[in-house]
Amino acid sequence: MDAHRFDVIVIGAGIAGATTAAHLAKHFRVGLIEMEESAGYHTTGRSAAIWMLNYGPPDVRLMTGGSREFFEHPPEGFADVPLMQRRAVVHLAPPGEEAMLAEKIAASDGTITPIPVAEVLAMAPGLRPDYAVAAAIEPESFDMDVAALHQGYLKLLRARGGQIGLRSRAGQIWQQGGLWRVTTAHGETLGAEVLVNAAGAWGDELAVIAGVPPIGLQPKRRTAIVIDPAPYEVADWPLLGDVAHTWYARPEARRKLMVSPADEIDSPATDAQPDELDVAITADRFSQAFNIDVRRIEHSWAGLRSFTPDRSFALGEEASRPGFFWAVGQGGYGIQTAPAAGRLLAGLIRGEVPAELQRIVPMVDPMRFRK
Ligand SMILES: Cc1cc2nc3c(=O)[nH]c(=O)nc-3n(C[C@H](O)[C@H](O)[C@H](O)COP(=O)(O)OP(=O)(O)OC[C@H]3O[C@@H](n4cnc5c(N)ncnc54)[C@H](O)[C@@H]3O)c2cc1C
Repeated sequence: MDAHRFDVIVIGAGIAGATTAAHLAKHFRVGLIEMEESAGYHTTGRSAAIWMLNYGPPDVRLMTGGSREFFEHPPEGFADVPLMQRRAVVHLAPPGEEAMLAEKIAASDGTITPIPVAEVLAMAPGLRPDYAVAAAIEPESFDMDVAALHQGYLKLLRARGGQIGLRSRAGQIWQQGGLWRVTTAHGETLGAEVLVNAAGAWGDELAVIAGVPPIGLQPKRRTAIVIDPAPYEVADWPLLGDVAHTWYARPEARRKLMVSPADEIDSPATDAQPDELDVAITADRFSQAFNIDVRRIEHSWAGLRSFTPDRSFALGEEASRPGFFWAVGQGGYGIQTAPAAGRLLAGLIRGEVPAELQRIVPMVDPMRFRK
């Protein structure tokens, strides 16, 4: 990196680090460091890329709702392509799950409504006619262009004078004379008043390196496969999944389907790889719901969704270590919440949280884990 002295150092250039850094760069000298060669290598590059309002705890829903406007109307020049493309989500109830579906509809404030199973079969003819006995639709959902969103924030950061250091693993971290010091894999020592921990699955490990107690972050592995759903042309299918959340499938390009068993397997922080058994389970659950032969799995991957103990985000300052800010616990919602979460954390660091985000602050305060 050209400079070694910043106002803020952000560690981790996934979506959480990129959004926070871009917002802060409007006011401060910001350095963003990433241990990998590419910024979206870990969880950010491995998501299912769906925006769904009725998903996750209350803080997540508020940040998801608060991010919609950004996806619909990003600032001029932010990205060359639209950040969103409409795709309804259909929740299916196999026999025995009708009550769960009714509960989901009731809790959705009118954003999920019942739909006849026959209509779902018309939309997605590969579905087995006897799989579901009831269904509901969430029409306001959309696909997100994660790469465009992520790159847009990194571009904004650079345009505002921020610096990005790739292959720059933060090694040692300490606080000295009001400055946080960070050594990188390049042998540089960086300094800043504020340090942001946006290290994803490594969030607790990074805190410990900095002498800050962990908050109990748990990375959980999720599997995804891509199959050829021939003879069906699936581009206009909704995202389909069972209401008990044991699988979901969404179109990937014109002729492919991405399928996940919605698994959550405890994992250490690592470069997650799909497990053979999980891949087989995914294909099996898909075959139970669809009249489609899984002849070949074209591609599979896994990524780590990292959760705090109560599954809400941890965004805010570590009270005993002034200048150390957490930006972790994005779980399975880090992309759809990113525009609001980045603004919120940048606001906390500047001491000026936007009015519409203020009610979220106590819900995501990392100090709730210190009580
Ligand atoms: C299969 C799957 C499906 C998903 N589907 C959705 C979805 O539909 N919608 C949605 O909103 N979300 C979804 N998610 C969740 C979403 O992808 C995550 O919440 C989000 O990407 C987390 O971003 P992050 O920046 O916190 O983590 P990451 O992208 O993992 O970024 C953290 C970065 O920190 C870096 N780092 C760690 N330690 C150091 C260090 N010491 N020095 C320097 N750098 C370091 C890492 O290399 C990494 O790049 C899904 C996730 C998975 C796995």
